[in-house]
Amino acid sequence: MKEKWGILAGNTGFFKMEDVEVPAENVVGRPGEGFKIAMFALDQGRFTVAAGATGLIRACRDASASYAKERKAFGVEIAQHQLVKEMIAQMESDYQAARLLWLRAGWLKNHGQRNTRETSLAKWFATVASERAAGDAVQIHGANGYSDEYPVGRFYRNCKGAVIYEGTREIHKLMQADYVLGYRVDRPTRCELPAHGKEGSQKSEGKSQKSEVKR
Ligand SMILES: Cc1cc2nc3c(=O)[nH]c(=O)nc-3n(C[C@H](O)[C@H](O)[C@H](O)COP(=O)(O)OP(=O)(O)OC[C@H]3O[C@@H](n4cnc5c(N)ncnc54)[C@H](O)[C@@H]3O)c2cc1C
Repeated sequence: MKEKWGILAGNTGFFKMEDVEVPAENVVGRPGEGFKIAMFALDQGRFTVAAGATGLIRACRDASASYAKERKAFGVEIAQHQLVKEMIAQMESDYQAARLLWLRAGWLKNHGQRNTRETSLAKWFATVASERAAGDAVQIHGANGYSDEYPVGRFYRNCKGAVIYEGTREIHKLMQADYVLGYRVDRPTRCELPAHGKEGSQKSEGKSQKSEVKR
């Protein structure tokens, strides 16, 4: 992709593989499992996206709080205005909720439990909230927010990509509805998930991994 709006520190390209022969010793999983494995990898990518978007909300909150106390309009700090406070309060509640959601997904990962549902929710919530936070952060900065003099314009450009990649906002919305409606169920994985620490390392292949988290 050329001339992206944001996430300029990362290259985004495209590649295609056709008729590639893979030596038997290099096969990951079993033949025919490739799609499942690729989809499973999303549980890890989405987790990092959720964490990154949560950090972006926090950055918006901190930049907005600091600017709102510094900027005076007609002799009054703009932080004193209720409508400005409302935007900052929303950033705080979004930040705290987003943080708890990916921490829960991380806890499941640490315990070797399937976390597709929780990671999807964390990614969806954090990225959508980060878009709201970035829009409001620019708003609080007024015209200054619409320039490169302050970091919030960059937050605004960066946040949108994450609403699109690693499953668009719409895909996560559909997934979450389907989980609640029972149209979608996460089955136990064939192999043990790589847990952190002792508990996970004692699990054997094929053992059912029941989620113990309260939903
Ligand atoms: C900055 C950036 C980095 C990226 N990095 C990577 C990467 O590292 N690896 C990678 O594989 N991809 C990457 N992508 C690609 C990204 O994953 C895709 O752009 C994304 O999955 C959406 O696919 P699409 O662009 O083809 O949109 P489309 O599939 O054409 O979707 C367009 C719109 O239609 C909606 N839509 C499509 N299907 C449905 C449906 N069934 N129900 C409801 N709505 C639907 C979508 O939600 C979206 O709003 C990156 C994209 C960006 C912007």
